[in-house]
Amino acid sequence: MIKKILVANRGEIAVRIIRSCREMGIGTVAVYSDADRCALHVLYADEAWHIGPSPSVQSYLHIDNILAAARESGADAIHPGYGFLSENPEFPERCKEAGIIFIGPSSHAMSTMGDKIKARKTMTAAGVPVVPGTGDAITDELEALQVIREIGLPVMIKASAGGGGKGMRLVKREEEVRPGLRAARSEASTAFGDDAVFIEKYIESPHHIEFQILADQHGNIVQLFERECSVQRRHQKIVEETPSPILTPERRQQMGDAAVAAARAVNYEGAGTIEFIVDKDLNYYFLEMNTRLQVEHPITERVVGVDLVKEQIHIANGKPLALRQDELKQQGHAIECRVYAEDPENQFMPAPGRVTHIDIPYGVGVRVDGSIYEGFEIPLYYDPLIAKLIVWGKDRKEALERSRRALQEFKITGVKNNLRFLERIMHTAGFVEGDYTTHFIDDNEDTLMQDETCDEHCEDIVMISALMEYLRKIRKASPKEMTALKNNWKDYSRVRSVLKL
Ligand code: ADP
Repeated sequence: MIKKILVANRGEIAVRIIRSCREMGIGTVAVYSDADRCALHVLYADEAWHIGPSPSVQSYLHIDNILAAARESGADAIHPGYGFLSENPEFPERCKEAGIIFIGPSSHAMSTMGDKIKARKTMTAAGVPVVPGTGDAITDELEALQVIREIGLPVMIKASAGGGGKGMRLVKREEEVRPGLRAARSEASTAFGDDAVFIEKYIESPHHIEFQILADQHGNIVQLFERECSVQRRHQKIVEETPSPILTPERRQQMGDAAVAAARAVNYEGAGTIEFIVDKDLNYYFLEMNTRLQVEHPITERVVGVDLVKEQIHIANGKPLALRQDELKQQGHAIECRVYAEDPENQFMPAPGRVTHIDIPYGVGVRVDGSIYEGFEIPLYYDPLIAKLIVWGKDRKEALERSRRALQEFKITGVKNNLRFLERIMHTAGFVEGDYTTHFIDDNEDTLMQDETCDEHCEDIVMISALMEYLRKIRKASPKEMTALKNNWKDYSRVRSVLKL
């Protein structure tokens, strides 16, 4: 039985995993880089080990350093979280060699599903529908044109090793094939060290709908229904909900069955997600499998009533699944909003910096998984996801109203963030009506993109933040510096008015 788990990750997911371990009475080991010395996961874990400098290649991606921390701390298992090493097939192998349990699937399942070309072949053999396209990697323009003439334009040229929305090119006309092929291959080579690309039919106005599965070591597999992830910016999700507003019970059943078949085809073990792209007629096609916990897993936890991290640990312990498919139900509705330290007005550029103030929403139906606190310096080295707001309501209407309420209460100052942008999504007609596709953000750019500084909601919080910053400065200031502060600091007069001086 696992007694101590090293979490090979950081941020909100490391904190989230540590919490489940604590509830199970399992010891926890955090690992951290230079930039994360004061990070929340370090403070939450029972013990914390330094694993290297700030760049992730020298720390969170450094297998030797992580295994050394596991050995020295006496951890008997490693949870990889998501991102970083979670989908690197070398990692489970290396854990095995070191006699440490890897909480996740086998290296074989990971490498089959991590290679989109291999995955497409395996799915086709298992009878799971894939997007029409090529069976093998394409290197040559003529070959590409031949395929395109068969399946028809538009198409996507995609990196076989792709992830995070990178290495994808939309091709609408034949003249775009040659530059598209070259660009996709070069991007794939830089981002993933593998320039293999393939061609897939571009599905117009699609939905991204994925199914959560759990598989134990004894051949039992269950599916825990879908998550609708069509609100995306640059092919990356920012809002997810379950149930999907568009699925019928019949289509849900068929897709759930296909997800189980997909997992069975690679002898899957652990928690995983089968992603599908769905067209307007509800035709569904396998996109890829994520062989790990997803960022958006909490909405499934809320609606189905499971703790997926605990399930992962039970599976790694060799226990048979206690969940039975015919007993699983979706209850109510859940929505997740991803809170990023980024600037929606400036092409969602990451905006690291020091958090000066944070108001976290509480109350019925609200869960916040986060990794920041007041005074925390968000490092520039990692993904700028800083918190997730997960709300539950008895139906979609209530979940939506609750999301709006919670977002209104949620305030972060000191760093640019997308909270007001998320709030506007919750008020935008397409989302309100549950009638949206992966083009939702682009289609609603005018409504969604507003100047944050003029936003009424922001006004008070900007003022409070200015006041706090001012108080912080004057606490340390000499009389001379005080004069300089008064003369130079643009918010001084606003602060005076707040204090009624
Ligand atoms: P990644 O592994 O980089 O996340 P995916 O294959 O999962 O890439 O696709 C990410 C997103 O890109 C999808 O959710 C969808 O919005 C879009 N996409 C991918 N393939 C297609 C396609 N064939 N047609 C239309 N959109 C697509």
